[in-house]
Amino acid sequence: MDPAKREVLERQGYEVVGEHSGVKVCHWTKSSLTKGVGCYKETFYGIKSHRCLQMTPAVDSCNLGCLFCWRTQEWGSDSLAHADDPGFIVEESIEAQRHLITGFKGNPKVSTEKFDEAWHPNQVAISLTGEPTLYKRLGEMIDEFHRRDMTTFLVTNGTTPAVLRRMASEGRLPTQLYVTVAAPNADVYRKLMAPKSEHEWEKLKETLALLPSLDTRTVIRHTLVEGWNLGWEDEYAALDATAQPMFVECKGYSFVGESRLRLRVENMPEHRVIRQFADTLGDRLGYKVAAEREDSRVVLLTRDGALHPIVS
Ligand code: SF4
Repeated sequence: MDPAKREVLERQGYEVVGEHSGVKVCHWTKSSLTKGVGCYKETFYGIKSHRCLQMTPAVDSCNLGCLFCWRTQEWGSDSLAHADDPGFIVEESIEAQRHLITGFKGNPKVSTEKFDEAWHPNQVAISLTGEPTLYKRLGEMIDEFHRRDMTTFLVTNGTTPAVLRRMASEGRLPTQLYVTVAAPNADVYRKLMAPKSEHEWEKLKETLALLPSLDTRTVIRHTLVEGWNLGWEDEYAALDATAQPMFVECKGYSFVGESRLRLRVENMPEHRVIRQFADTLGDRLGYKVAAEREDSRVVLLTRDGALHPIVS
């Protein structure tokens, strides 16, 4: 990896793994270790935030330029031309997590028991930065995590249905598959997601149509930006109806990281606005509110209005 890029990433708290992967300790992992407060996915799905490894196999590669993205985007990249070995990435990512949390050992706010559990992550969030499906050995990497009894959350922007189809045919789907749907139509998509080619919107719709056939837990996440993509509940409901997801998350945009170079603090919707959107969308879709976390400005919709935690 280009030393200048590695330096920027390390200054941002990343540990670079191999040629194109990265690990960064999540805010909520730290919060769970020190204050016992985990992330909204702990509330919604029962994962343990202090045992969660946040990583990406595409630390500097994405095919979109979402305005609300908190990551550094301005990097052209061919780092994925050479795909690192999946087993190597998994082993080194676990080591990187241990290296990054070492400082919590001996912290009076962190119990020995909790630290020992964190030393053995049992959940991985493949979401940190970039588009993970651009890494051509992603299915194998997910297999490697599962072989270590770790649950896997994969967050994708949905522009590579062929990759998901192949992973499904190989039986290498994640425990929970997230697809970000942050636009109700092609026009808003072009303005807010700034795709690098013209086929991405159609590809996303192809992925939504594929979701009902995938044998795993599926989530549509609507990242909502005030003044850009909030509203259009009928259009979002039509897209979600195509995908028939197990879960729909309505989540407010956060004015953090490099998104502050592209958006304003006023673009962060209040929780009550997210709740209103979720209520209306739920009515249109026939889903019900199952849970919400005001501190994370997120509302969860399910078909039966109940929670369905991961049983690992
Ligand atoms: S699931 Fe996401 S938010 Fe929760 S601890 Fe893991 S990386 Fe953080």
